[in-house]
Amino acid sequence: MQALDELARDWRAAKSAVVLTGAGLSTASGIPDFRSPGGRWERYQPVPIQDFLASAPAREEYWRYKGETWDRIRNAKPNAAHRALAELAGANRLDLLVTQNVDGLHERSGLDPVRLVNIHGSDAAVVCMDCGAREPREVAQRLFEAGTAVPSCACGGPWKPATISFGQSLVAEDLERAMQCAARCDLFVAVGTSLVVGPINGMFDVAARAGARTAILTASETPYDAMADYKFEEPVEELLPRLVRKVVEA
Ligand SMILES: [Zn+2]
Repeated sequence: MQALDELARDWRAAKSAVVLTGAGLSTASGIPDFRSPGGRWERYQPVPIQDFLASAPAREEYWRYKGETWDRIRNAKPNAAHRALAELAGANRLDLLVTQNVDGLHERSGLDPVRLVNIHGSDAAVVCMDCGAREPREVAQRLFEAGTAVPSCACGGPWKPATISFGQSLVAEDLERAMQCAARCDLFVAVGTSLVVGPINGMFDVAARAGARTAILTASETPYDAMADYKFEEPVEELLPRLVRKVVEA
């Protein structure tokens, strides 16, 4: 495929490549995209952080969902798309990977964590909403599985998985690093994301305005398709390994 060859050529020529990933990357690992219709998880209504903090029933609803879906995430394995990105980073062809996913699969694929920003946090840790303590997820999950509706910290505050909830601000330094790298890169690639969640989808604008080449590897339409230099709609777990062969082994 000629367009893929051209993208690979741009990638080899790039001094700084930055990647943004989303839910489409992990569907092949068995983690449903809760935004796509028909999924088992579609019924879930996200609990905004204000409700979590203010209401015991909201905290219970939140933990019912999180507690029951954790098993799927914990047992999921990185797929060929995660491994391809880790290989690019290992070959020094990927400066920064920003992911909107909270499943931890980039870490488990062997991607060097210094090149990774979990912009929406992580399901693999919990944070106490009162004292700010942070522990591995299992500390709270054990309590949930033993029948505690809302696991709590030793201080009495409720544990919450360390993801960014609706209504909760992103970590300022993570957002700043993502945007600075987008502004400095000469190749920006969005993978498995429909680029509708702000403010992080703004990385595309920032990179494009700074003159970077841009590619979107996402099965669905995105608001940036017309602006992108490349758009591929094939499954990323098939496309990325082929692309990496052309970038790394050429
Ligand atoms: Zn606490």
